[in-house]
Amino acid sequence: MGCIFCDIIERKAHAEIIYEDDSVISFLDIRPVNYGHTLVITKKHYENFLSVPSEEMNAVIKAVQFISGAVSDSLKTDGFNIVVNSGAAAGQTVFHFHFHIIPRYNTDKFHFRPELKNYGSVSMKEFADKIRNAVNK
Ligand code: AMP
Ligand code: ZN
Repeated sequence: MGCIFCDIIERKAHAEIIYEDDSVISFLDIRPVNYGHTLVITKKHYENFLSVPSEEMNAVIKAVQFISGAVSDSLKTDGFNIVVNSGAAAGQTVFHFHFHIIPRYNTDKFHFRPELKNYGSVSMKEFADKIRNAVNK
């Protein structure tokens, strides 16, 4: 199946590329939350966050930190969000792994904070135990 991000890597589709090395490429998101919204992706096609081998993830996260600094300095942001949507339920629409770097300003009229739950009717420890068991497997 075709992948628009692979097309960008292969220069079959246009993008405003801002950084590239052996394992990572970064370009502007075509539908920005704020102008300068940047994507950082692996050059190899991995479907999502969990599919990326750790050595390549190290290279990507290093690039994300470096490019976040460049976005922040050049656009004089007040902050930025680093976002990964993993799975359709989390809002992933392009199934080629990527980080979003979203420039943020004190004047922004939106936030990413959904309505928060309270542990109360369900046990916090029960959730912690499930995750701890998986971590310690
Ligand atoms: P996600 O929803 O986390 O999978 O993010 C995919 C992102 O890719 C969206 O924010 C899209 O706006 C962006 N996108 C899709 N097609 C292109 C494209 N051709 N060039 C740049 N960004 C794109
Ligand atoms: Zn791809």
